[in-house]
Amino acid sequence: MIILQTSKKLSKPIALSQEEKIKWMTRLLTKAKLVGERGEVPIAAVILDKRGRCIGYGENRREAMKDPLGHAELVALRQASWINNDWRFNNCTLIVNLEPCPMCAGALIQARMGMIIYGAEDKKRGALGGTINLAEHKSAHHNMLIEKGIMEKESRKIIVDWFKEKRVLSRNNLLSKSR
Ligand SMILES: [Zn+2]
Repeated sequence: MIILQTSKKLSKPIALSQEEKIKWMTRLLTKAKLVGERGEVPIAAVILDKRGRCIGYGENRREAMKDPLGHAELVALRQASWINNDWRFNNCTLIVNLEPCPMCAGALIQARMGMIIYGAEDKKRGALGGTINLAEHKSAHHNMLIEKGIMEKESRKIIVDWFKEKRVLSRNNLLSKSR
């Protein structure tokens, strides 16, 4: 007999209060800043179970690991599936400071993540509304709750500042090389 899902697994993700969402996003932004200082795009993500406990945490470590899959959401997902002992996340919530890219949004849909909360929209690469909404695409077989704009201004600033600084650094590098 094949049991696809137990009713326990199908319970809903936790309903976080606004204060709790801000508390998590504040933590993520603090972490993301450190990620940025290490030369990675400043992104951090956390996964909460149905009781609101952290079961996965990830930072962007694409450069450090030389890994195209090293996005914060996927790192968190891998850890959480190990702790969850399951690949299904219907009753879980992922929180991240920047809108997930197509790769991560696709993985989160495959993982049947119950809810996604993100800070800043990504008008260049975002796949949950910024450029395309994979959660509403006909290929998405799973209904995922999405909430955007938690600490939107702060979340946007950390990304914009990082890219600005990177441009200044690479310009200075070019200048010093041309001398
Ligand atoms: Zn991604």
